[in-house]
Amino acid sequence: MKVLVATEKPFAAVAVNGIREAVEKGGLELALLEKYTEKAQLLDAVKDADAIIIRSDKVDAEVLDAAKQLKIVVRAGAGYDNVDLEAATAHNVCVMNTPGQNSNAVAELALGLMVYGARNLYNGTSGTELKGKKLGIHAYGNVGRNVARIAKGFGMEIYAYDAFCPSEVIEADGVKPVASAEELYKTCQYISLHIPATKETKNSIGHALLSSMPKGAVLINTARKEVINEPELVKVLEERPDFKYLTDIMPGNHAELAEKFAARYFSTPKKMGAQTAEANINAGIAAANQIVDFLKNGNRKFQVNK
Ligand code: NAD
Repeated sequence: MKVLVATEKPFAAVAVNGIREAVEKGGLELALLEKYTEKAQLLDAVKDADAIIIRSDKVDAEVLDAAKQLKIVVRAGAGYDNVDLEAATAHNVCVMNTPGQNSNAVAELALGLMVYGARNLYNGTSGTELKGKKLGIHAYGNVGRNVARIAKGFGMEIYAYDAFCPSEVIEADGVKPVASAEELYKTCQYISLHIPATKETKNSIGHALLSSMPKGAVLINTARKEVINEPELVKVLEERPDFKYLTDIMPGNHAELAEKFAARYFSTPKKMGAQTAEANINAGIAAANQIVDFLKNGNRKFQVNK
């Protein structure tokens, strides 16, 4: 059976070696489609694939139609909004992600953005410290937990809201659970966003929540740009000269934000939260191991289209 690694942006060589080792040890064959530039190349490569490992690559109904033997797609990473889950289910294809493998990398970047914000984007002026400030973690999943762990070292007072994670789990980490997103934003000067982009969360971070934040508000986004209501974010930045927005996902209105709010807005040039050697290797190898375990033992633990 053939496992295809289809990556517009390839894995590091050391990760590919680890993937190959895991795949071959499982008695499977590895095929590589790296740095492809046309969708047609992907459509051709998936024809005889039983399993596919992807990164931010799009797997839509057309790709699934072309992949007649496909049984499983694994997104090496956490967010899987690049895969059409309904179409995959209709094609009887199992979709998985590799949760937790890049969480520390993203969390470290979130804290880095917080320091950058507190020190006025390193512009040479006197800033503030994170110690003693209230941090609100919006969604207490794999990344959120790592943010809490690191922020404790900075001496921050940490709160969290998660729609599904029980408050006892949050409390057990020495973090204060709150009952709603509204309460979190009202309470915390710093908010670090870790919600996935879903029907419920898209465009959900807007004027009502952001304008309720305390003085000196800083919003850190290492989640997805789709969760932000961009026109309403502009309104908040216009109304509140104390509000800062720092993101790892360049917004649709980046040019407007960069021009109007240069001193209080920053975006990484491209999403780089998970771009560390460690995360790359961990996620790629985890994807390969999950495929072997699924094809040999039927393990569906990380399936996301249940
Ligand atoms: P995760 O699945 O471990 O955690 C997500 C958490 O969100 C879960 O605890 C879930 O209960 C909670 N949640 C879901 N819907 C919610 C809602 N409506 N309100 C409140 N909480 C809700 O995911 P993770 O690994 O922590 O990653 C979080 C997000 O970060 C991903 O979905 C992805 O979009 C993004 N991400 C970005 C990068 C990057 O490079 N910047 C890398 C990895 C992940």
